[in-house]
Amino acid sequence: MFKVITGRMIVPNMHLLTLEAPAVAREAKPGQFVIIRAEEEGERIPLSIADWDTQMGTITIVFMNVGRTTARLAQ
Ligand SMILES: Cc1cc2nc3c(=O)[nH]c(=O)nc-3n(C[C@H](O)[C@H](O)[C@H](O)COP(=O)(O)OP(=O)(O)OC[C@H]3O[C@@H](n4cnc5c(N)ncnc54)[C@H](O)[C@@H]3O)c2cc1C
Repeated sequence: MFKVITGRMIVPNMHLLTLEAPAVAREAKPGQFVIIRAEEEGERIPLSIADWDTQMGTITIVFMNVGRTTARLAQ
């Protein structure tokens, strides 16, 4: 499980999550995406890496709440 550093709704139905993921942040390149599961046995969904910070070891994703997994992530 990756620790959530920040989670907030930035505009209605759009959410921003910053996650502790140092290994991903170290290797991140523009245009790449991560595969995320909201729960251990949950569906895997792709979400683009919107930002990352190699010093802090964090990545940021921005997503729209459209279905089961994104609703769970938004919670
Ligand atoms: C490479 C890649 C990168 C992606 N990056 C992002 C990202 O950075 N941010 C983001 O919000 N999404 C992104 N997506 C889309 C994201 O993966 C889907 O929104 C997600 O899989 C939905 O999962 P769910 O279980 O919440 O919804 P589901 O229950 O699987 O879908 C619910 C319904 O919503 C529809 N739907 C799905 N996505 C959208 C959408 N964006 N707009 C309108 N209707 C939609 C589906 O067709 C379905 O009918 C990316 C997809 C890919 C392939």
